[in-house]
Amino acid sequence: MKVAIDGPAGSGKSTVAHAIAKRCGITLLDTGAMYRSVALTCLERGIDPNDATAAAEVARSITIEFGQGEQGQTVIVDGRDVTTAIRTPEVDVAVSPVSAVPAVREAMVAQQRAIGAQGDVVAEGRDIGTVVFPDAEVKVYLTADPAARALRRAVQRDGRDAATDANATADAESVMSILEDLLRRDAYDSNREASPLRPAEDAVHIDSSDKTVDEVVDAIIALMEQAS
Ligand code: C5P
Repeated sequence: MKVAIDGPAGSGKSTVAHAIAKRCGITLLDTGAMYRSVALTCLERGIDPNDATAAAEVARSITIEFGQGEQGQTVIVDGRDVTTAIRTPEVDVAVSPVSAVPAVREAMVAQQRAIGAQGDVVAEGRDIGTVVFPDAEVKVYLTADPAARALRRAVQRDGRDAATDANATADAESVMSILEDLLRRDAYDSNREASPLRPAEDAVHIDSSDKTVDEVVDAIIALMEQAS
């Protein structure tokens, strides 16, 4: 079975996909981590993220693998663990132009489909239900209001978990700067020509603003049961 979870930055896709993979024993495919890996490699090699030809060359030449660490899934690029390095504000900025390059997307989608061909997968990203796995049995478009998304990210960056820490707060300045980044990336991802962020026609919309992770996970697992 293929489960596609798309939605804007910070809507909870990662946490939810992670939990589903664990509960159902299926492969987790974090496609954002793949675009982030390309962006990180560009930055490390001094390549301008807006240089489409060079970014495409990077996407075709690096090997991205997923591993399993104590804290969850790890991301390995050319044998090096980049799990933390791909989550910096610099990569947040570089990833949008890199992922708007059609040849970069072509290289990533080919790898994503190869992973999907190996068995059951829960994949999260922006174009899973529309492009990567258009015949996924379950398609979800996960949203949350921008303030909730920014707070969750800020709390995560402080090393805490908004899902389990109901009283989690973060300082207003970092919430504001994260909010700006989320809105900028949403606009970039939604307005690009290549595979823009948009719900598949047959996606089930879930707003996670006032829901716990468990509530969202239960709702998606119910959809999986209906589809099987
Ligand atoms: O999901 P995450 O926030 O890690 O994604 C980082 C960026 O990668 C997104 O803002 C988007 O530009 C890009 N992306 C994409 N297509 C996907 C997944 C992520 O363009 N399927």
